[in-house]
Amino acid sequence: MTAVQAMAAAVVELQGAFPEGKLVLDAEALLPYGKDESDLGCFPPGAVVRVESAEDVRTVFAIASRHRVPVVPMGARSGKSGGSLAIHGGIGVSMERMNRILEIRPGDLTARVQPGVVLGIFQAEVEKQGLFYPPDPNSVDLCAIGGNVAENAGGPRALRYGVTREYVLGLEVVLPTGEILRFGRQTIKGVAGYDLTALFVGSEGTLGIITEVTLKLLPRPRHVATALVCFPDVATAAEAVSRVLAAGVIPRCLELIDDVSVKAIAKGSPFQLPPGAGAALLFETDGNDEEQVFAEMSRVAEMVQGSASGEVIVAQNEAQRRDIWETRKYLSVALGKLAANKLGEDVAVPRSRIPEMVARSREIGKAHGLLVATYGHAGDGNLHCNVLYDGPHERARADAAVGDILRAAVDLGGTITGEHGVGLAKRDFLAYEQGDAVLALERRVKALFDPLGILNPGKMFPES
Ligand SMILES: Cc1cc2nc3c(=O)[nH]c(=O)nc-3n(C[C@H](O)[C@H](O)[C@H](O)COP(=O)(O)OP(=O)(O)OC[C@H]3O[C@@H](n4cnc5c(N)ncnc54)[C@H](O)[C@@H]3O)c2cc1C
Repeated sequence: MTAVQAMAAAVVELQGAFPEGKLVLDAEALLPYGKDESDLGCFPPGAVVRVESAEDVRTVFAIASRHRVPVVPMGARSGKSGGSLAIHGGIGVSMERMNRILEIRPGDLTARVQPGVVLGIFQAEVEKQGLFYPPDPNSVDLCAIGGNVAENAGGPRALRYGVTREYVLGLEVVLPTGEILRFGRQTIKGVAGYDLTALFVGSEGTLGIITEVTLKLLPRPRHVATALVCFPDVATAAEAVSRVLAAGVIPRCLELIDDVSVKAIAKGSPFQLPPGAGAALLFETDGNDEEQVFAEMSRVAEMVQGSASGEVIVAQNEAQRRDIWETRKYLSVALGKLAANKLGEDVAVPRSRIPEMVARSREIGKAHGLLVATYGHAGDGNLHCNVLYDGPHERARADAAVGDILRAAVDLGGTITGEHGVGLAKRDFLAYEQGDAVLALERRVKALFDPLGILNPGKMFPES
C-alpha cells in the first residue's frame, strides 16, 4: 500500500470517529496548519483533528497505527524550528480546543492547565491572584503551554528564573501505543522513580502528546525596574554583560542589541535609542522591596556605565517600559526593514564566551558576504544570530553561514539551540553537538515510546 492509499484509508476511519468541525479535511482550511514561524516552508497535513480530550488523542493514535501514517502534534505553531510541520503528511493533532485553565491553587503555588492554553492568558490569570509564572518567550501572546513544555521554552526572564523545565511538576501524556499516563507530581518536591516529566520537557513532540500540565507558580514580585543603556559598539556591550555576571549580580533580564539591530530599530520602533548608539543592553531587576530593586539596578548601572556611550535610561512609567519591551520583542520583525529575508538562530554559549560568539558570528557573516544581526538573552548566553539575505540567490550562502554559526557555538562549548529546539531546522547538526553514540541512545529512547515511528517523524534526528 502506498503512503497516499494509507492516508486515504486513515481518513475514512477518522470520518467515522470525529464529527465535522473537529476533523479538518478541506485543503484550504488545512493550509494554516502547514506553517509555523520558521521559514522552512508549508507542509499541510492530510487531516487535522482538533482534539478535545486525551481519549481523542488515543483514537487518533489507534487509527494512525493501523495505517502507519504520521501523527504531528500542533500547539499554536509559533515554533521557530519547524517542529509542528507535517513534512511527511499524516494527521495533525491540534491542541487549540484543549485550552482550559483547570485550576489555580494559590495555597499550593501550583496550577493545572490543558496544553492549548495561550501563555499570555495564563500569566494574566495567575497575576490577578498575586501569583507569577516566570517563563516568558517573546511569543507570549501567541504560543501555547503544551508547545512551551515540548520546546522547554525560555525567554528574557530565564536569567533569574530559569526556563519552562523549572516549572513543570507533572504531566498527562498519550503515548503512540495508546497508553494514557500521568507522571511527575503535584508537590514541589518529589523524587520517586525516573524523572519522566523531565524527559518529556523539550522532547519536541517526538515521544508522546501532552494533554495536561501541572505547573509550579511563585508569588508575584511587587516591583520591577527596567533600564536601557547604549554602547559605542557591540563588543563593548558584550563585555559589559560578562562583567555584570562575573560580579555575581543576576538581574531578572539582561538583553543585548547589536549595531545591526540598532539600525533596524531606527527605521521605526516604539522606543527610539539615542542618536549615535552602536549597541544597547536592556536590563530589569525585580523584588518585593522597591528600594532594593532600585539599589540592584544602580549596581548594574555602575558596572556598565564606564564603557557606555551615554546615561542609563530608566523607564519612568509602565508605558515607557512597554515601549522598550515592544521594541525588543519585535526586533525579529524590524530586521525585515534591512533585508527581505533572514535565518534566525538561537545558539547558547557559556557566558564568558559571549563576546567571542558575537565577534565570530559577524566574521562568519562577512566571510559569506552577508550581514548578521545578533541580539537576545545575552545574560544566559543565549544569542539570536540572524543571517540577513535578500532573495533566493543568496539562500545557499545564508544556509552555509548558519551552519558555520552553529558549529562555532559548539566549538565555544555551547549548543546549537538554547530555546527554539532542533526540530527540522537543526536536525543535521545534532550529531555535531552530541556525537553519534548519544544520538543512537536517543533514537532507542524514541523507539521505546514510539515503536512504529509514527510520531512526528523526521524531527530532531537526521533522517536515515
Ligand atoms: C516572535 C517570536 C518570539 C519567540 N520568542 C521565543 C523566546 O523568547 N523563547 C523561546 O523559547 N521561544 C520563542 N519563540 C518560539 C516559540 O514561540 C516557542 O518554541 C513556543 O514554545 C512554541 O509553542 P507553540 O504552542 O507555538 O508550539 P508549536 O510551534 O505548535 O510546536 C512546537 C513543538 O512542540 C510540539 N508540541 C506542541 N504541542 C504539543 C503537545 N501538546 N504535546 C506534544 N508536543 C507538542 C510540536 O509537535 C512541535 O514539535 C518565539 C517565536 C516567535 C514567533
